[in-house]
Amino acid sequence: MPAKASKKKKTRATTKRKVAAKAPAKNVYAFGQKTDGNSSMKELLGGKGANLAEMASIGLPVPPGFTITTEVCTYFTKNNGAYPAKLEAEVKAAVKQVEKEEGKKFGSKTDPLLFSVRSGARESMPGMMDTILNLGLNDETVQALAEKSGNARFAWDCYRRFIQMYGDVVMGVQPRNEAEHEPFEEVMDGLKEKVGTEKDTELTAENLQELVDLYKGLIKERTGKSFPQDAYEQLWGAVSAVFRSWGNERAVVYRQKYNIPSEWGTAVNVQTMVYGNMGEDCATGVAFTRDPANGEKVFYGEYLINAQGEDVVAGVRTPKPILELSEEMPKAFKELEKVRRKLERHFRDMQDFEFTIENDKLYMLQTRNGKRTGLAAVRIAVEMNLEKLMPEKKALLKIPAESIDSLLVPVFDPKAEAAAKVIASGLPAGPGAASGHIVFSAKAAELEVKAGRKVILCRQETSPEDLKGMLASEGILTSRGGVSSHAALVARQLGKVCICGASTVRIDYHKKTLTAGDTLLKEGDYISINGTTGQIFAGAIDTTDSEVKRVLSGKLKADKSYTYQLFEIVMGWADKHRKLLVRTNADTPEMARNAVTLGAEGIGLCRTEHMFFEGDRIDYMRQMILAGDEVERRAALKKLLPFQRKDFNGLFKAMGGLPVTIRLLDPPLHEFLPHDDTTRRQLATKLNISQEAINERVKALHEENPMLGHRGCRLGISYPEITEMQARAIFEAAAQVKKLKNPIDVKPEIMIPLVGFRNELKDQVDIVHRVAKEVMEAKGVEIDYTVGTMIEVPRAAVTADEIAEEAEFFSFGTNDLTQTTLGLSRDDMGSFFDDYRNKEIFTQNPFASLDQGGVGKLVQLAAEKGRSVKKDLKLGICGEHGGDPSSIKFFNDVGLEYVSCSPPRVPVARLAAAQAAVS
Ligand code: PEP
Ligand code: MG
Repeated sequence: MPAKASKKKKTRATTKRKVAAKAPAKNVYAFGQKTDGNSSMKELLGGKGANLAEMASIGLPVPPGFTITTEVCTYFTKNNGAYPAKLEAEVKAAVKQVEKEEGKKFGSKTDPLLFSVRSGARESMPGMMDTILNLGLNDETVQALAEKSGNARFAWDCYRRFIQMYGDVVMGVQPRNEAEHEPFEEVMDGLKEKVGTEKDTELTAENLQELVDLYKGLIKERTGKSFPQDAYEQLWGAVSAVFRSWGNERAVVYRQKYNIPSEWGTAVNVQTMVYGNMGEDCATGVAFTRDPANGEKVFYGEYLINAQGEDVVAGVRTPKPILELSEEMPKAFKELEKVRRKLERHFRDMQDFEFTIENDKLYMLQTRNGKRTGLAAVRIAVEMNLEKLMPEKKALLKIPAESIDSLLVPVFDPKAEAAAKVIASGLPAGPGAASGHIVFSAKAAELEVKAGRKVILCRQETSPEDLKGMLASEGILTSRGGVSSHAALVARQLGKVCICGASTVRIDYHKKTLTAGDTLLKEGDYISINGTTGQIFAGAIDTTDSEVKRVLSGKLKADKSYTYQLFEIVMGWADKHRKLLVRTNADTPEMARNAVTLGAEGIGLCRTEHMFFEGDRIDYMRQMILAGDEVERRAALKKLLPFQRKDFNGLFKAMGGLPVTIRLLDPPLHEFLPHDDTTRRQLATKLNISQEAINERVKALHEENPMLGHRGCRLGISYPEITEMQARAIFEAAAQVKKLKNPIDVKPEIMIPLVGFRNELKDQVDIVHRVAKEVMEAKGVEIDYTVGTMIEVPRAAVTADEIAEEAEFFSFGTNDLTQTTLGLSRDDMGSFFDDYRNKEIFTQNPFASLDQGGVGKLVQLAAEKGRSVKKDLKLGICGEHGGDPSSIKFFNDVGLEYVSCSPPRVPVARLAAAQAAVS
């Protein structure tokens, strides 16, 4: 019996915050012969519920059942575990409908209807929430099941599994501390020892009957309560447990990783049980309509004869490849092939589905759009478009923008890989190459990574508890489990390199060793895994560029690389549809060239202070910063000028006439001052001054808040000679490349940083114009240039109409704009970010993904104000957000002209920009 909505007097807090969600009109949706829902109702029915309804309605063999909506979950959470008043009657009616369709009765002593109870959120969260199977069994119905199935052992095994799951999930019989084992397992081990067997499968019906008594005793001892015999009481217990599991720790960690809001809630699916474990003509499996690891159009999946679904996913037994089913159960396999085709044609996407074969009859338990690696996402979209299953725009939207990155990630250096010792191989479950120190537990992975080491997490199998450690690792290796085991599913989603089911590898958690053939590796030793081929190597292996990069750099022919051809097609689609231009943040000719090969259409930000990191330049830069007066400063600037000119010359050449935005010096001083004694001593010798003088100057320049200190245009305002030198270097370099035999039509865009006042900008713009005139006259060339500003402090955004009077373009510096709008240091937030995330104050890191509700409003305001003064004012963005897909969507919608991001992000930004334009 569910707890009803409480009629207690409202507390002050509830009155104030109105937490009680309104009771929804309909809470329960049937699927089966009577089907209420469809695949478009994922928000309400969750992904699993909506697709069960859809499959039932297109005539696929779905065991009947019903879905309790996500709205009930929200209601349940907000009302301390109470249900809407109507729910009980709706559930009863839904059970009656299933009873009618199945010709069985829930709780019947002669022909009992049994249910599975599973979670199902809007987006799938594999293994994160709880599931209960065989619900409805009790001391009497178990007898009926034994008779009906003609298999007493099977019936008692179902019952003991049910009690075990229910005891754990609903009644909370779990290990009480880290040292304790799983209590039900311990009881079972005790019985096996008594009986003298090591295998669960060797326990007889009588043994299992004894086990059921022992389990019930355990529950009573731990909870003081008896295991419930009433079927409805069991059902409500299970439903509540699934709703509660939406809030368990691993579900919360998963939601944080994938930015799934807690308000979504999960649905609960109650479905007639079918059995893959009733004998040798039964099976259960998981299959994909195409290969989720590389996207190839092959029937892909695995199954276990005489097993329950959870056995496949848990990775405890290594399943067989799906194609072997064609020999073991040809009739069911044929039907499955038909279902595979029907699913793809109907859902028009690669499907990942679960099935059970009970006495040679096929049942579909779930289907969903299959998770896939980045490479598979690209291949499936391209090939489904060619097969006319997906129109181009839909195919474009089907590729998560980030996934294009996986075509560009490093692979093992082929020579180093050929020379390395292969110790074993397993199933390639997450492509790419990874090397690292061996760790055997998720906890160790987290600790090692915190200490700065790269690790490969090596486990017999993984479970949802390992998520944090998996996130931290470079790659994951398991010795058991197939390509749809937990390790494989999660690795695919995380984009981690992964090999699973490496059955010749023996992992001993106790001794902390990994053995493969005659190789013995210990915790901390290096291991390398190739998640594309499945090969495992002892030792570390160097990585090298991906095929796509090798084609782009001319080291591999395009027609030799299918991956490159896929990349080309997708980038072609992206460029056809996007409105935003994509520029890059690059400070050196090499970075610039790399970005251009990846499709950059200009430089959106050259941070000139970064040009001084090379060779001696940092010393001259320091000399300039430490200068006591203008004379000293001019002397240092004179030394810097030729370097700057040469650098700009190189940049202009690398970009071959594409736009180049050069930002004048913006060094937060603390980043450039010599901090330690040795550096100061060396600098003193080099500059031929005393170390005391340096110490004094550093002391004088010390700032409490350097990020809000003497930086940006403030530096050029105090020391105009710095702006002069930089402007001169830019124009002289422009004059040089314009005079080349093959002249470059360069149009420098000079950008003034950290402006908040119109007059700050005017001060600097005047200097730039003066120097431009001088250089153009001296060199006898016309240079077409513009001067603009960064919008990176709130005052600039708020007064953008005034600032636009002096600026020919704006580029949003969303790093500083986030820092100053949120009053949150870019450098210091790491120490408390986790707290903010855990409390869901931040769903995302605002420095990685734009705070659209706050910082975004300022961007929008500044764009409008700027364009109110200059209709065609060019607007771009060069903060880190320029490479983040959801921020790119925002910038597209605000109507910016370009985004600028780091070179490796350019393809992601091109794709995200196209998706923003077509969605
Ligand atoms: C910014 O603030 O967004 C920006 C691009 O400048 P920097 O990161 O160099 O401060
Ligand atoms: Mg900035």
